[in-house]
Amino acid sequence: MLKKLVLFDIDGTLLTVSKINRSVLVDALTEVYGTPGSAGTHNFCGKMDSVIIYEVLQSAGLNKDKISEKFERVKACYIELFRKAAQASDVCLMVGIPDLLQQLSERSEVMLGLLTGNFEASGRHKLLLPEINHYFPFGAFADDAPSRNELPAIAVEKARQLTGTTFADHDIIIIGDTEHDIACARVLNAKSIAVATGNFSTEELKKHHPHVLYENLGRTDVVVNEILHSTII
Ligand SMILES: [Mg+2]
Repeated sequence: MLKKLVLFDIDGTLLTVSKINRSVLVDALTEVYGTPGSAGTHNFCGKMDSVIIYEVLQSAGLNKDKISEKFERVKACYIELFRKAAQASDVCLMVGIPDLLQQLSERSEVMLGLLTGNFEASGRHKLLLPEINHYFPFGAFADDAPSRNELPAIAVEKARQLTGTTFADHDIIIIGDTEHDIACARVLNAKSIAVATGNFSTEELKKHHPHVLYENLGRTDVVVNEILHSTII
């Protein structure tokens, strides 16, 4: 019987992608809007792909309406360029991830999913390259809502549609590398597991009060145990 819904962030949590992510976005923005805005230097951490596109173009003086007009075009362009450019050698899995996903997938009480700011098509491509996409039957993505804090409820609903089980509170575990992942867990009273494998140290993440904080996800037994025994507090 299903008991735990485990939702993973992608970038900085499952894997890291080379500079190609940023350079492809710069190329797509330049092709569609004639400017990359501030995409060359903007802080992307924990943000939705859609939000990033608006932020970098607004900083170049474009207004919201102008950006919205061509948003679907730039999204399609970015996804196409990313799929063409990204190779397996551009993606590096974080320590412990293959073992952790394998062990969790073997547990009948655990359902795995994604909760990420990536667009689904490019996010799935990041997972296909190191062959971990098959672990995730569903996910909540930047395509699904304008803000990350809306994604947990969407993920719970998608999980219900797939399994008939309605997950709630600390039976939902959200694993991510930024304060944004911690914040969106709080929206549903889900359990947050923060991991310092992205751009933020344990000291920085601690300030945002995750329920659990790890240097990395390398101690598989400890992480699996934490997930299986997650309780409402
Ligand atoms: Mg992340």
